[in-house]
Amino acid sequence: MSTFVEHERHGAVHLLRLANPPVNTLRNELRAELMAAIGAAQGEGARALVISGRGRMFSAGAELREHGKPRPPPLLPDVFAALDDFPGLTVAAIHDTAMGGGLELGLACRVRLATRGTRVALPEVRRGLIPGAGGTQRLPRLIGALPALRMILSGDPVDAEAARQLGIIDQVVDGDIEAAGLAFAREHLGAPERFARVRDRGGLADAAALAAFDAEVATLTRRSRGQESPLRCAESVRNALTMEFDAGIAAERAISMNLSQGEQARALRHVFFGEREAQRVINLPEDVAPLPVARVVVIGAGTMGGGIAMSCANFGLAVTVVERDAAALEKGLARCHANWQRTVDSGKLDAAEMQKRAALLSGSTSLDVVREADLVIEAIFEDMEVKKQLFAELDRLARPGIVLASNTSTLDIDAIASATTRPALVLGMHFFSPANVMRLLEIVRGKASSDTAIVTAIEVGKRVGKLPVVVGNCDGFVGNRMTAKRSPQIERLLIEGCLPQDIDRVMEAYGMAMGPLATGDLAGLDIGAAARKRRGTIAPVADAIVAAGRLGQKTGAGYYRYDDKRRRQNDPEVERLILEVSRREGVTRRAITDDEILERVLLPMVNEGARIIEEGIAQRAVDIDVIFVNGFGWPAWRGGPMFWADTLGSKKVCERLEHYARVSDSADLQPAPLVRRLAETGATFTLPPGQRAA
Ligand code: NAD
Repeated sequence: MSTFVEHERHGAVHLLRLANPPVNTLRNELRAELMAAIGAAQGEGARALVISGRGRMFSAGAELREHGKPRPPPLLPDVFAALDDFPGLTVAAIHDTAMGGGLELGLACRVRLATRGTRVALPEVRRGLIPGAGGTQRLPRLIGALPALRMILSGDPVDAEAARQLGIIDQVVDGDIEAAGLAFAREHLGAPERFARVRDRGGLADAAALAAFDAEVATLTRRSRGQESPLRCAESVRNALTMEFDAGIAAERAISMNLSQGEQARALRHVFFGEREAQRVINLPEDVAPLPVARVVVIGAGTMGGGIAMSCANFGLAVTVVERDAAALEKGLARCHANWQRTVDSGKLDAAEMQKRAALLSGSTSLDVVREADLVIEAIFEDMEVKKQLFAELDRLARPGIVLASNTSTLDIDAIASATTRPALVLGMHFFSPANVMRLLEIVRGKASSDTAIVTAIEVGKRVGKLPVVVGNCDGFVGNRMTAKRSPQIERLLIEGCLPQDIDRVMEAYGMAMGPLATGDLAGLDIGAAARKRRGTIAPVADAIVAAGRLGQKTGAGYYRYDDKRRRQNDPEVERLILEVSRREGVTRRAITDDEILERVLLPMVNEGARIIEEGIAQRAVDIDVIFVNGFGWPAWRGGPMFWADTLGSKKVCERLEHYARVSDSADLQPAPLVRRLAETGATFTLPPGQRAA
């Protein structure tokens, strides 16, 4: 009795319907049943097979939970080989979506029909993999190696009509896809040979075609940094130009197995599941409902307020921004509009949609509009007294019972809440810059914040396209508190022997979009200088750079020099300043290895992460990784700082921290108690036992 494939006989045409709704993942049982059904149909003398899907879509592809685990046969390539061997016509009747293995199933048929609006994609590269069930061999044979590689490297979905033009889809269908599939099969029943098997199409490339392919690959994979899967995708697609089909499939299989057991695919799985987990709040009663929010009022239309307001309007939520005076308001609103206009100009947004968004955004110079708010988000200057005054006023004006949120990056939420008569409804909604782009939203729970307030903030965050992660109240919360800990070590590295470009090169080679010093230049070095002044700390190199009037990109120079196109250049003047500091500090400069640089930048963050977990500021280690991937440009294929620590192993983390604490005389680097405990047992922050790299 089949449960995952329905087998219908329509005379000589048999319909095999994937029946693992709603998304028809190709789980172990389904593959076995599909294989059996193909065999049964053949045994019964069927002359054509139509394959369709029940539920919302044709197929979302492989079952992600089966990745990285041994899978019982038949595997997808076995099933697709059976389709190749079927002696009649094979038709994929695709509706809505065919992703990954789902599209590869379609490619193993002789003909592909799709409903209008269907989206097809091979997104495996994003999971650190290659399309491993024939995708890298059949797609190039069907549409050409370069178009195939572009699609595989982007991972983006292609619409049915575009897919038809590329040659992936044979016909776009309006109406019932199964009926269309059956009709097509009946019409061409007598002449399956008119539709060659995809494996038999194309041909091997000559030297010139191969050279053209290689030249293009170099451009396409230039930005992959240390990420393996784009390079392996290119390698496997190239095999389609140089190997016969069966050899290409065997090579694809080997590459695919190798990647799926590798660290990068594991990191991406960790982040994928982590993003779901991080949005679940521990110990939250199930019956807590969010408060209804139809209008948001944002106070402050600066860098953050503007971005937050745009996020609301982008997702259909009415929003009013409040500024101190008409000039500031106009400037803030103009920045939002200019931002939207740029997106329109780049072709990513149509003008009508921009109008719709702009219509949802209004401004005021009077706090009175707070009376109309269902939620207030404050984004004014980072000054406790100013914020307290404002919150007292907000509390007086806003309807009792609505949530008042602060976007503060560092200030104590409890102190802010104490300025109101509704501390249970006060919390942090910490967006990241640029707020209309970055997905991370730290929701900061104060000691009085109610479950209702938390759930409301999560709900609004999700509605405006963010990934909300609940964190505890402390200086810097999770992300900024951890990054702050790397700064003293970066200072030490500069004093002991590094130049800014050495540190940035190592961090960029690790996969960061931008190294920490270049990032400092981008944000403005005055921000860090102000924070040091507030905290009464010194940083000899950073202070010397700022004292020389080098505040970063905005002054044309910081740790680097910038040309008029804002391209960074190493600056001998910076080297001179740094060498002078080393001399002043009495330090003999030495050569520092890349490994030491990486460890001294990342380990202080990991150590602070351990403290953050122990204090309950983060609910779980994976939340920290999700925060860094979504708010700090950490490459997802590296998994995040705590995942990195686990790949190193807790014993080594502990031992290296002790070593650096000793050599740099820094109490901060003494291993946190949690690090020591993990080191004793060999346990990990994030990974289930047995999955940790040796
Ligand atoms: P900003 O200086 O760009 O903007 C602040 C705006 O608030 C200014 O336009 C100012 O005129 C306005 N303002 C000040 N007092 C006001 C009042 N009483 N009523 C109405 N408007 C008032 O600052 P920003 O970078 O947008 O930062 C705002 C807040 O967001 C700060 O708490 C900051 O710590 C936090 N934050 C900043 C970033 C960042 O990267 N810039 C990231 C996360 C959080």
